[in-house]
Amino acid sequence: MTWQDIIRLHVAGPTRHGGELVELTWSDVPESLAELADRMNVSLDSQFPVEIAPSWRGARALPKLRGRRGNRIRLGGALAEDFSAEALEGVLAHELAHLKCRHWELLLLGCVLAALGGVSLGLALHVPEVVRSVVGGLVLVGGFAGMSWASEFEADGIAARYVGRSTVRTMLRELRLLRFRRWPELTHPTDTLRLKYLDAAH
Ligand SMILES: [Zn+2]
Repeated sequence: MTWQDIIRLHVAGPTRHGGELVELTWSDVPESLAELADRMNVSLDSQFPVEIAPSWRGARALPKLRGRRGNRIRLGGALAEDFSAEALEGVLAHELAHLKCRHWELLLLGCVLAALGGVSLGLALHVPEVVRSVVGGLVLVGGFAGMSWASEFEADGIAARYVGRSTVRTMLRELRLLRFRRWPELTHPTDTLRLKYLDAAH
């Protein structure tokens, strides 16, 4: 079964669970996922490696939570329905790359360091309180955005190493066609910028 078949079966079919998350077991997902995770040296949850958010238009890597469950990929049903099989392969490789690089953990650590940096800088400045707060806040927000964008570029690059650059390009092109991220966000650059970065990095 392809991802589109699986989405149709679990999201659009008679077993539709409304807006609730649908947890997929290893026997529900294509074998290619186990093969890709294995090649990328990423271990996914032994029971439910993927969960589908039926009406969501996005994808996210969910890192292992201590004592509760292993790494998972949350896939938006609305995104998967619009995507080609090749683009979906790119999405899965991109999310696996986030897990491989431990981007969540690094972002968390980075936020703490950026917060400390912002506070230190604010305290070191001999300016009114309000200016200190603004400078401190800018360091924190700028630090977080910079790290998050770098994680996205890195995940695209690593995904390209495992599934090929053309597959990742297809994913980004389809995102752009869907007008997924036309404007930069705090956590993500635009799809166009990601495409440019991917091309420039190879
Ligand atoms: Zn990402």
